[in-house]
Amino acid sequence: MSFESMGLAPFLLRALTEQGYENPTPIQEQAIPLALEGHDLLAGAQTGTGKTAAFGLPLLQHLGTTPQPVNGPRRPRALILTPTRELAAQVHDSLRGYSKYLRIPSAVIYGGVGMGNQIDALRRGVDLVIACPGRLIDHLERRSVDLSGVEILVLDEADRMLDMGFMPSIKRILAKLPKQNRQTLLFSATFEENIKQLALEFMHNPKQVQVTPSNTVADTIAHRVHPVDGSRKRELLLHLLSADARVQTLVFARTKHGSDKLAMFLDKSGVKTAAIHGNKSQGQRQRALSDFKAGRVNVLVATDIAARGIDIDQLPRVINFDLPMVAEDYVHRIGRTGRNGSTGEAISLVAQDEAKLLRQIVRMLGRDMDIRDVPGFELQTPIRWGNSAPGKAEQPGGERAPRKSHARRPHPQGEAPRRAHAGPKKPGGGQRNAGPRQQQPSGGRRDGGQRRSSAPRQG
Ligand code: AMP
Repeated sequence: MSFESMGLAPFLLRALTEQGYENPTPIQEQAIPLALEGHDLLAGAQTGTGKTAAFGLPLLQHLGTTPQPVNGPRRPRALILTPTRELAAQVHDSLRGYSKYLRIPSAVIYGGVGMGNQIDALRRGVDLVIACPGRLIDHLERRSVDLSGVEILVLDEADRMLDMGFMPSIKRILAKLPKQNRQTLLFSATFEENIKQLALEFMHNPKQVQVTPSNTVADTIAHRVHPVDGSRKRELLLHLLSADARVQTLVFARTKHGSDKLAMFLDKSGVKTAAIHGNKSQGQRQRALSDFKAGRVNVLVATDIAARGIDIDQLPRVINFDLPMVAEDYVHRIGRTGRNGSTGEAISLVAQDEAKLLRQIVRMLGRDMDIRDVPGFELQTPIRWGNSAPGKAEQPGGERAPRKSHARRPHPQGEAPRRAHAGPKKPGGGQRNAGPRQQQPSGGRRDGGQRRSSAPRQG
């Protein structure tokens, strides 16, 4: 299917061509025709699937082709709710690109910045509002926004909004919208019970579309695990980053404080680094993101929530400094690399106390991971993986065969691969503590060995 055959208007087609979009992505193919027909939609799609255009194009077509009501002051006709400021800003940017040949006055509404500009924009009159729920409630309370004219509502990343505790705010916002003649498009990576309830309550005979089940990641990603003592993670990270300082790398840390400390440490150690998390001001976050995108910094340290929705094409490497607490977040993190068929690396630094988390991740992914020591960072006491080994350890004496054949292969009982054990059957023996020549990564980068003679840098 092409964009033309979906019935998109010429003013959108022209903009899409200029953006270099040749063919619709699967979620766009499924969602756009239904949305153009006016159906409510429950769409299962993650960041990276092209979901923004999947709801944005039908929304813009509606605004651009249906005359706005004539009486009264201009009120928003479309509302997009997003969980984070970054996502709100990105959706706004994307829609500005798609609506280049339309005049759609719009406003982005989020917290962490002054109210003044937002109030001014709303007062001047806008057709489209892209908002985070909390700040939108502030505007509703001040009566600086009137949502009674909204014809299309989009809930973007609905699961994350609910995870972040926005359900009460969303319900308050929904209560201010017209009940009749409103189209609702709900996009979510997962469909837990609370999302279904929200849909039942507020949607009208929604059609369901779904791409990429939430527990799969691109086949082109190599997943690697480096066991390491928790207290030496920073050194190991620096060691890996220094091996090839030019690879743009997104590093995930669990806490805001931890990501700040880590970013400071890396920066002081000579790796150009920025951090992005909820305690940073909006300006700081945007600067960090644009510096990273432009290559002015090579490493971006992020927490899960702050990184949600970050749109970076062709990110070659993601490093989990800490494993995520929830296995699904691994998929969200790794979803930022290996897009559009490009190859990517997902590296996790795993300490003793994270073995259980790793097992859960492997079970959810249903695929093997390479587990390999980095020489100089071997654990004194190797990690006990238990019965359910998270993946295959590198066999001594040879390169690992490409693992594409394992990718996405379902494991019958949802079990982690069991054929090879990561944990040492014979502690201290053979494969786990093999020397650098036996541990070279299959991807060509040799993070083992090259620093063996010199002690890793101290943090
Ligand atoms: P999203 O899932 O909306 O965050 O989109 C992920 C990335 O894919 C963004 O950089 C979009 O600009 C890009 N994209 C979306 N749709 C298409 C398409 N049909 N062709 C090429 N790139 C696209």
